[in-house]
Amino acid sequence: MIQFSQVVKRYPGGYEALKNISFEIDNGEMVLLSGHSGAGKSTLLKLIAGIERPTSGNVIVNGQHVGQLKEAALPYLRRNIGLIFQDHKLLFDRSVLDNVLLPLAIIGFKQQDAIKRASAALERVGLLDRAAVNPIHLSGGEQQRLCIARAIVHRPSIVLADEPTGNLDHAYAEDIMDLFESFNQVGVTIVLSTHDEGFLKHRPHRILRLKNGGLSQ
Ligand code: ADP
Ligand code: ADP
Repeated sequence: MIQFSQVVKRYPGGYEALKNISFEIDNGEMVLLSGHSGAGKSTLLKLIAGIERPTSGNVIVNGQHVGQLKEAALPYLRRNIGLIFQDHKLLFDRSVLDNVLLPLAIIGFKQQDAIKRASAALERVGLLDRAAVNPIHLSGGEQQRLCIARAIVHRPSIVLADEPTGNLDHAYAEDIMDLFESFNQVGVTIVLSTHDEGFLKHRPHRILRLKNGGLSQ
């Protein structure tokens, strides 16, 4: 479970990106985080992943006070989390498969197990037949699916995606949403941000709406 109580996030310089936010997300839920650019969506996701710490209030993820974790404990938290953030770029000096293998190598998987897992992740996002190519040859939608494979290859219980459909054509965006829903159906908790909830109207997920750093109903 993800729980925010009275969370304030003020950046150095004093800008208050989140203003006294409280909410809960249950295990296995899929929640959309909507709001205009600058509303605080990325900040909220970074707090869940322990990339930023709250200025005050509590962020609890799977029973752990993320804001109070020691730096050394963060890698363990993140083993349970898959991140799809715009600034996590693909590596274009290696193959599609190697991009997905990298997170497993960091965790210390044996090569043979890692290849099995990475292949399964690529199959899941429909890219197994492109495993050997360089990601530069993939379309925008395929590159996004590769980012998703890389984020889920270690089988996290929580997936956080910051505007994963942001610069994709409509059909690709629907494709990506279907993929997240398929992960959610096998029990993964998903939190996905968007500045455009319009195209998600036909999908029955709870929406958390951020406006100028506050939650609105
Ligand atoms: P969103 O993801 O909804 O576009 P962000 O969480 O990225 O919103 O940003 C919320 C506000 O906090 C913005 O005004 C942004 O400029 C500011 N902000 C984000 N990160 C930082 C930072 N590292 N330092 C200072 N201000 C920041
Ligand atoms: P996004 O589009 O994902 O919301 P941004 O373009 O707002 O990302 O931010 C890119 C990076 O710069 C993030 O790591 C964010 O924390 C940081 N950032 C955003 N706004 C500011 C700011 N006003 N001052 C310093 N860093 C910022």
